[in-house]
Amino acid sequence: MAEKIDGRKVAEDVVAAAKTGADRLKAEKGVVPGIAVVIVGTDPASQVYVASKSKKAKECGFHSVQHELAADTSEAALLSLIGDLNADPAIHGILVQLPLPDHIDSGRVIQSIDPDKDVDGFHFINVGKLGTGETDTAFVPCTPAGSMILIERVRGRDLSGLTAVVVGRSNIVGKPMANLLLAANATVTIAHSRTPDLPGLCRTADILVAAVGRPQMVKGDWVKPGATVIDVGINRIAAPERGEGKTRLVGDVDYDAAAAVAGAVTPVPGGVGPMTIAMLMANTLVSACRRAGVEPPR
Ligand code: NDP
Repeated sequence: MAEKIDGRKVAEDVVAAAKTGADRLKAEKGVVPGIAVVIVGTDPASQVYVASKSKKAKECGFHSVQHELAADTSEAALLSLIGDLNADPAIHGILVQLPLPDHIDSGRVIQSIDPDKDVDGFHFINVGKLGTGETDTAFVPCTPAGSMILIERVRGRDLSGLTAVVVGRSNIVGKPMANLLLAANATVTIAHSRTPDLPGLCRTADILVAAVGRPQMVKGDWVKPGATVIDVGINRIAAPERGEGKTRLVGDVDYDAAAAVAGAVTPVPGGVGPMTIAMLMANTLVSACRRAGVEPPR
């Protein structure tokens, strides 16, 4: 059976390191890392994510502010708030919870965030830095950055000689994931809904990342023996075995079938998910260190 990659444990390590880094920054420079989380509307899933981000920030000893705006907030009002946060020296990281209501142009909002406070890594400047291999100064989107740490734990930092297949080409997961794997010297293929013979392609991968949003799509016979499988997907499916109307979370990978073949696999829940919030804390600390002229921890 494959090793189950314990994302919760690794995320705890990342959060503990962020807390230590924050304590040191406060002691040496009198700077407290500050994060602002902005949410527009009352989408229940978004509310849960935002609450857990704020809670984790407090756990790290960060200054944390949450702006909860009504669903009918105008784009101009949101841009004005971001302008204020950009100018606020106590804030080092700004996160706007997506999706935004339809009447607001998400792209315009994201591009209005100061790239130096863009701890989600979605601003064109940070996307461009990652794309050109400037990973030391970019903010890298949290989910792929967290996935990369899990891969490092199994395969080390240098992936020379290994093939990687990323299934999914979104701007927030698939593309940055592929760029990170490339920066670590893997030979990378990005697959998507138009890719022919996806099972055959996946079977070539020493490192297989699934970021699709289709429950348990990746089957056991898609997995190369010994491969490292990173399941980014979070899908809620019916679970009648737990009682009427009950649901459960599954990934994009059929975990049991993949675990019979792979060398290591991330579970869902408990794999990539906890890493995403942990990396948000790590990115905020990095931002505060850069602002204070201190070398960020690696
Ligand atoms: P998107 O919907 O933006 O992208 C999905 C990608 O999967 C697209 O590139 C799409 O291809 C591809 N795809 C869809 N169907 C197929 C198929 N049948 N075969 C091959 N490729 C396919 O999703 P995200 O990248 O935002 O998220 C992916 C998953 O990761 C979701 O389950 C999401 O919930 C989860 N997620 C988890 C996070 C975490 O913290 N763990 C954070 C962010 C996301 P095409 O471009 O051709 O349409």
